[in-house]
Amino acid sequence: MMQLFNTRGHKLQQFTPLHPDSIRMYSCGPTVYNHAHIGNLSSYIYADILRRTLRQCFGTTKHVMNITDVDDKTIRDSLAKYPDLPPRQALQRLTGHYQQIFLDEMRAVGNNIDDITLVKATDSIAEIQRLILRLLEQKVAYVASDGIYFSVDTYAKKRQYGQLSHIDLHSHHQERIVNDEYDKDNPSDFALWKKQKPGEPAWDFTLADGTHLAGRPGWHIECSVMSSHNLGQPFDIHTGGVDLIFPHHENEIAQSTAGDQPELYANFFVHNEHLLVDGAKMSKSAHNFFTLPDLISRGYSPLDFRVLVLQSHYRSATNFSWQSLTAARNRRHHWQEVAVLRWQVSDNPSQEQTEQIHQLVEQLASALENDLDTPGALRYLDQAYNLFSPDQTDLAALDLLIETGDQLLGIKVGETTPDIPPEDYELITQRQKAREAKDWAKSDQLRDRLADRHITINDGVTPIWSRNND
Ligand SMILES: [Zn+2]
Repeated sequence: MMQLFNTRGHKLQQFTPLHPDSIRMYSCGPTVYNHAHIGNLSSYIYADILRRTLRQCFGTTKHVMNITDVDDKTIRDSLAKYPDLPPRQALQRLTGHYQQIFLDEMRAVGNNIDDITLVKATDSIAEIQRLILRLLEQKVAYVASDGIYFSVDTYAKKRQYGQLSHIDLHSHHQERIVNDEYDKDNPSDFALWKKQKPGEPAWDFTLADGTHLAGRPGWHIECSVMSSHNLGQPFDIHTGGVDLIFPHHENEIAQSTAGDQPELYANFFVHNEHLLVDGAKMSKSAHNFFTLPDLISRGYSPLDFRVLVLQSHYRSATNFSWQSLTAARNRRHHWQEVAVLRWQVSDNPSQEQTEQIHQLVEQLASALENDLDTPGALRYLDQAYNLFSPDQTDLAALDLLIETGDQLLGIKVGETTPDIPPEDYELITQRQKAREAKDWAKSDQLRDRLADRHITINDGVTPIWSRNND
């Protein structure tokens, strides 16, 4: 049984798939005009854990994520960077570059992108236009001089706007009017389609009356279309950071449930809290804004960051500090030190150890099924790794722990503690034989040869080798 906190209804609910044969989930993805900041990455790490847990509980899970490759920022930066290219080509050049970086960084922090269907906004223009035409036909949208807008008031006559945030639209008017540069009837209305401004990239759009309105989609409509088009509607779970609840997710819901469309968009909305830096909100002006390369340049592994994120529950703010990142690194290194034991020459089969590991691994999985309790899961993982020592290691139990922990948490302990080459193994085995035969001269000679190859042997009760990579 799996429990999740559903923002729709604001409570912990038992999660039951809409269709028993496949779970369908959607995550709001990146706008590819720069590196993702570590707060964005933390959101994708939680989504990755959610998908892993769903897969473990229910089997097949289809996970779709959008790539926003056309919006104000991508257009601004692409025109500045490639002024000599045609606008759409410039846009493609810039976003293609940052999309590749995004994929690399997702992989680096342990997110399994092979399990995600990534969809670009610019590959979905035809579907986006189809939905806009339908909204226009049903009079929930209207054409203004600079684009096409969604009419929140018309929508609200039939359905509730603000299902997640219970927002009072009128209290937000002031702020939104100040930021308003568009020609719309009502301040809370939002753009579905933005008419091309001179020099901007654009796609042709022919309206029902034959009018041509070249331009590009608004941000909210992208997600409505890419989710429903790839997953069907309603689908099971929609994820994102809490900052996306209003207006982004409210607008997605409105667009997808307007007119004669289904009343339900996504069954569960799962939102993660912000990442704070030293207790404060991350912002460029406060100089506490970090990307993955900032962490790597200070000598940390992207997986250290993953562990730091998992140490917090997704519904509490993760606090990032260099000190907490160091602590996460130490924790991960400890697991690696234990994991190295699986390559030792000795094995101590132990029924008891196998049983203990099985139990802890089950507790770890249950913690995740309980509203993704990652801090709890890591505590069980610690307990399990602590059961092994050079003198007491059942190799099968250790393999099971490494495999399950890596599969459910994506921490790559197995992958990051590789075996030594066969020739080193051979030397270790020869030396062990020499010692057993009390041939100390040969034993010492082999020890020196291993030392040259950065392998140290500690002759305890059970001789154990370790590798130093300096
Ligand atoms: Zn979205």
